Amino acid sequence: MAYNVTLIRGDGTGPELVEATRRVLEATGVAFNWDIVDAGVDVMETAGTPLPPNVLESIRRNKVALKGPITTPIGTGFRSVNVALRKELDLYACIRPCKLYPGVPSRFDKVDLVIVRENTEDLYAGVEFPVGSPEARQIINMAPGKIREDAAISIKPISRSGTRRIVKAAFDYAVANNRRKVTAVTKANIMKYTDGLFYEVAREVAREYEGQIAYDEYLIDALCMQLVLRPENFDVLVLPNLYGDIVSDLCAGLVGGLGVAPGANIGTDAALFEATHGSAPKYKGLNKVNPTALILSGVLMLRHLGEREAADRLEQAVAAVIAEGKDVTYDLKPNRNDPTAVGTSQMADAIIRKLQSL
Ligand code: NAD
Repeated sequence: MAYNVTLIRGDGTGPELVEATRRVLEATGVAFNWDIVDAGVDVMETAGTPLPPNVLESIRRNKVALKGPITTPIGTGFRSVNVALRKELDLYACIRPCKLYPGVPSRFDKVDLVIVRENTEDLYAGVEFPVGSPEARQIINMAPGKIREDAAISIKPISRSGTRRIVKAAFDYAVANNRRKVTAVTKANIMKYTDGLFYEVAREVAREYEGQIAYDEYLIDALCMQLVLRPENFDVLVLPNLYGDIVSDLCAGLVGGLGVAPGANIGTDAALFEATHGSAPKYKGLNKVNPTALILSGVLMLRHLGEREAADRLEQAVAAVIAEGKDVTYDLKPNRNDPTAVGTSQMADAIIRKLQSL
């Protein structure tokens, strides 16, 4: 049986990373029918939109997509394709495993944690009122003496249903991946109603998994300190959107940077797998950047498809190539100017050779 998967090549370094990942995934022996569609800045010129309707149609049909990074030009009114995809498909759970593989330059010995970030609400809901607007004035009048007259205002919605589904996603991930603990992270001592509700609902969900998965809570500031001191103490973290965004990048730094940080955006009806990093446009066409983050996103996709054995084998092959430290890109060499660093496609070749020898 072959899996139907939508393949979005992206732009910048996206197409070369996607090609490397496609070859590696096929080398696992799992069969795919790739439905190749294009989105991003290059498509804008021909299609008049960076996200043509056939892209969404393809993902809705196949329910699984692998995506290269897509540039969001600043100050052009160009809507972010990445945000649009998450919104249109209601991909509410952003899952980012942060695992330190031996051989990756890092300050730490052991990091193996997973960020589960809520993707659809919180301060990212896009409900903002500019300074001096009638709406901002109305809100200022609702809280006399609390907000300055010259304030712009962003609204932070946290819903019971939105929280329930993200916390459940974190616990379900923990169960499916043999994890032991879920930690909910907020600033509920200050935001008593919004972050307070997040905790209230998280505790309800945690009770449903009692005896199976442990549960605890951290305030976001304390968590940040603990993460840089003792990252080995954490397992699965579940966070509202803004904290999740920031902590994901912090944790990518703990495990060696963007070149090795994979990700998945999961919804009820579709799942989209992509690296944490962007399109790194300055390296476009240079066969230089690290394919590991997208290949490990492919590992997550294999697990999502139920191909656990192939996923484990591929992860093992990636880890072995990194541990050997020979056929790796510049960012995985102790000295970034090391002339022995290989290119994107050569690192993929090394992973394929390793897969064949396992
Ligand atoms: P970026 O992640 O593209 O690159 C920042 C730097 O990180 C690069 O210059 C490079 O030094 C390093 N880097 C990134 N990926 C790497 C890799 N695979 N291997 C080795 N080094 C790597 O971030 P940016 O420059 O802020 O963003 C560029 C564009 O990408 C922007 O338009 C942004 O909006 C977009 N973006 C897209 C996504 C996505 O598609 N999901 C995510 C983030 C940013």
